[in-house]
Amino acid sequence: MERFDMSKDCHGVWENCLNVIKDNIQADSFNQWFKPIKALKLENNILTIQVPSTFYYEWLEEHYIDILRKVIKRELGADGKLEYIVIVDSGATKGNSMTFPATNNKEVKNPSIYMPIDINHGHNEVVPNPFIIPGLRKIKVNSQLVERFSFENFVEGSCNRFARSAAYAVATKPGGGSQYNPLFIYSEVGLGKTHLMHAIGLKVKEIFPDKTVLYVTAEQFLQQYVESVKVGNFNDFVNFYQMIDLLLVDDIETLSGKEKTQDTFFHIFNHLHQTGKQLVISSDKAPIDLIGFEQRLLSRFKWGLSVDLQTPDYETKVAILKRRIYIDGNMDYPEEVIEYMASSINSNIRELEGAWNAIVAQACLNKKEITLDLAKQIVDKYVKVTTKEITIEQIQKIVCDHFGLTIEACNSSSRRREIVQVRQLVMYCAKLHTKSSLASIGRYCGNKDHATVLHACKTINNLIDIDKHFRAQVEQIEHKIKS
Ligand code: ADP
Ligand code: MG
Repeated sequence: MERFDMSKDCHGVWENCLNVIKDNIQADSFNQWFKPIKALKLENNILTIQVPSTFYYEWLEEHYIDILRKVIKRELGADGKLEYIVIVDSGATKGNSMTFPATNNKEVKNPSIYMPIDINHGHNEVVPNPFIIPGLRKIKVNSQLVERFSFENFVEGSCNRFARSAAYAVATKPGGGSQYNPLFIYSEVGLGKTHLMHAIGLKVKEIFPDKTVLYVTAEQFLQQYVESVKVGNFNDFVNFYQMIDLLLVDDIETLSGKEKTQDTFFHIFNHLHQTGKQLVISSDKAPIDLIGFEQRLLSRFKWGLSVDLQTPDYETKVAILKRRIYIDGNMDYPEEVIEYMASSINSNIRELEGAWNAIVAQACLNKKEITLDLAKQIVDKYVKVTTKEITIEQIQKIVCDHFGLTIEACNSSSRRREIVQVRQLVMYCAKLHTKSSLASIGRYCGNKDHATVLHACKTINNLIDIDKHFRAQVEQIEHKIKS
């Protein structure tokens, strides 16, 4: 055969293989998994190819072994063989087209490993699981962890003691007991959920260097899912996640209403849970209060342990600020600045840190020392701007006061017209001026469902359109809410 003879150098043989492979797999997978491969040599009917990491080799073996066998047989005949050599790039990581957190090649200790693969396996023979081939290190994943968010830098206080110790228990024994799996951490923003998740990840990597740890935000997970469906490597996406030993998913509330992503996460969750892998999930609400989630997923969230983080007390705030200043490299500051900040910022730790950053920035800019005066100026400005957000409680009080109705009456199940209208107005204003969902507004207004809130918003909108007198009332109320 002409083709056979002419292509007896390694490049030609591999080129022929690629042409066949290309026609048989998705273009994107081809670019991702086959383009980076180089043909090295052809000796004794053994074709040696170079792959960039062990992860690559494992992936090829798991996903493309059949096609590889076929093309090698086609090109080299029945006694042809394929060998991989892993050569790890020591240079800086180049732009990588992988949509998942990329492997960290630098962590592979052994710079070049030969892995002979016998292409002549019969077809009914089971493809060996690449992850248990002796001598192969486990895949290395970029865990996306931030060093600063360690347990050492996490200040303990009564607001977080229970959550912290649960997190620590999980970190020292990941997947160890189903009572901690999943660990579900919830709180309002800026109280340390993300910090605690990273702390778990860092500790696990420290104690168990061989475990594969991955931190992702639910948003990232969602994006990756969408992307994988788009380019047709959904299976790769799922397989990737199923290889993780400790999976930390932050801000799970982002998946609210995203049924398909939830479905995928459900399967990944089950796989990991069943194989004794640890899951840690964070959210802005307790599982029971999450809206827009499949019931079966919520029930999984409740399997393990749920812990919450509260706003810190004065002493904890002082300690957190001092720790932060210490990490940043010890600035000089009068003690009273910290005391002032801790007593006047009550919202959350992120704002506390934000105000401190603003003070430092201002002091550096003007080449001045940090003083109580400066702190006061900035905290006043800072806190005023950021705490302006209005709550449903405040809205309800304004509306009820305006009509001389009590909160109890408003939240009752009375169907009297005047009461219904005030209640609807509260719902309407809450929808307009807060970020609360229809369901949570309904729950707040005496346990009504989201359809009732939706109906209320429509009714009020109509009334505003057709009733001049009513419109004037609403305008007055809006004015009160805004001031
Ligand atoms: P969340 O994820 O709940 O919104 P973060 O984890 O992002 O909150 O925390 C906000 C900031 O506050 C981060 O910079 C974090 O390091 C800091 N922080 C929160 N809790 C603590 C703590 N107990 N000790 C030290 N720093 C903390
Ligand atoms: Mg967070």
